[in-house]
Amino acid sequence: LLGERLGAVPVALGHDVRAGGLAEGRIGAGQGADRFLFVPLGTGIAGAIGIDGRVESGAHGFAGEIGHVVVRPGGLPCPCGQRGCLERFASASAVSQAWAEACGDPAADAADCAKAVESGDARALAVWQDAVDALADGLVTALTLLDPRVLIIGGGLAEAGETLFTPLRDAVRRRVTFQKLPEIVPAALGDTAGCLGAGLLAWDLLDTEPTGTIPTTATPPEVTT
Ligand SMILES: [Zn+2]
Repeated sequence: LLGERLGAVPVALGHDVRAGGLAEGRIGAGQGADRFLFVPLGTGIAGAIGIDGRVESGAHGFAGEIGHVVVRPGGLPCPCGQRGCLERFASASAVSQAWAEACGDPAADAADCAKAVESGDARALAVWQDAVDALADGLVTALTLLDPRVLIIGGGLAEAGETLFTPLRDAVRRRVTFQKLPEIVPAALGDTAGCLGAGLLAWDLLDTEPTGTIPTTATPPEVTT
């Protein structure tokens, strides 16, 4: 519909996480990486597989759904219909739920859990380590299949910074045998990643327009949200 209304202006439509991954890979935390995997840990967990400046969508548009890789067979049921999916253990929502139960405060969330971990609370450390272990199991499956150069972790849970990244790098390092360890880095673009990625998708269309009226050396327009 937008394409019709806008006439000659090309319109791009993208999946939110893959668009965010495109932006993180090109102009964010993975800048210049030829192979990367972007994994945002939010309400759920999704993923974007970056290959040579583009993001793989798969044959049916479902590539990268690492949140539904089973890491605890027979574990907690997932709305997707399987049991034991990664996002049931390592999403920000899953950590919030586990910490609320462990500390007895129904309003406590993943950020509170991270703070409790930093202050040395043993119950919080147990909840946190369970999530980190599940996440490392899922990420090792992904890196065994994809061999990425950079693993970009984003979303609410990544805001815990080194409280997450230090144990996560350790947990991944402990699990790999022959696989090459990717660099594991926090996402750089935050909530604007999806918007910037959508802009890049449209920019790519402009860049390949046969009219040639758009200079290819120009920088992408600034995007405000
Ligand atoms: Zn699932």
